[in-house]
Amino acid sequence: MQADERKCPHCAEIINREARVCKHCGRSSNESPTLLLAIIGVVLLIAAARSCGSNERPVREEATRVVTTTVSSNPSISSEECERRGVDYYKEIGAYPTLSDGRVAEDVAIERCGRTTTAFGPWN
Ligand SMILES: [Zn+2]
Repeated sequence: MQADERKCPHCAEIINREARVCKHCGRSSNESPTLLLAIIGVVLLIAAARSCGSNERPVREEATRVVTTTVSSNPSISSEECERRGVDYYKEIGAYPTLSDGRVAEDVAIERCGRTTTAFGPWN
């Protein structure tokens, strides 16, 4: 490259230092690619800030926390254990073998334990 030459910022061809329009790609050499890159950078930063600012991440963290809590709070209660506790419970409140609404206490215990094994406890 000679003293009166420079690189076109758009196509990287050697052009005359005084040239205002590149003879290779025809684009104006007055456009600053640095400024263009800066604008693109700002736009990307704004986009990144917006996606971080959405509540997507907190929701995901909350879901993870709930699952972890549920699993760790009753790690070893089987549905059979739950049903046994349910029968004990209905015996304790005098609603065994038949509840006041006519349903069989053991069936209700099984039904409730089918939804969650902590339906009747855990008690210690
Ligand atoms: Zn060019």
